[in-house]
Amino acid sequence: MEDELFPEQVGMNRHSKNSAADAIAEMLVELGAARQAAVSVIALDLYSRELAKLPIEAVKAAIHSLSLAKRRDFEPAFPDLPTLLEAVEAEERKRNPGRFVSCDKCTNGIVFRIIKGEQFAGHCECFETWKQARAAARVT
Ligand SMILES: [Zn+2]
Repeated sequence: MEDELFPEQVGMNRHSKNSAADAIAEMLVELGAARQAAVSVIALDLYSRELAKLPIEAVKAAIHSLSLAKRRDFEPAFPDLPTLLEAVEAEERKRNPGRFVSCDKCTNGIVFRIIKGEQFAGHCECFETWKQARAAARVT
């Protein structure tokens, strides 16, 4: 596999000067090592650029927990980008319970359902969960 990457190569192969993306690329290489997965240069570049747009602490925590998570059946050795983004979002929610982060099924916590040809807007599950978490946080 010629596009497999070693940590020492990461800095050399990247054209971007974005240090956050570089730091993330290094973490992703380590994640690959932890999960015994080969990461292509293209994937590494794309993933690190996308993840660099998110809060670095949440990205770090998400990659860390993914590298410790046991691989489930049929799960690719290296997580795909949506899985990574989801993990970062989950970390963000954990770290920032006060801030609402909508899931990929809704827009700002609102979902639209068609019932008997009519469209209804309702709160998404993620919004309900957030509301409960916030209420619980207030009690303690
Ligand atoms: Zn949602």
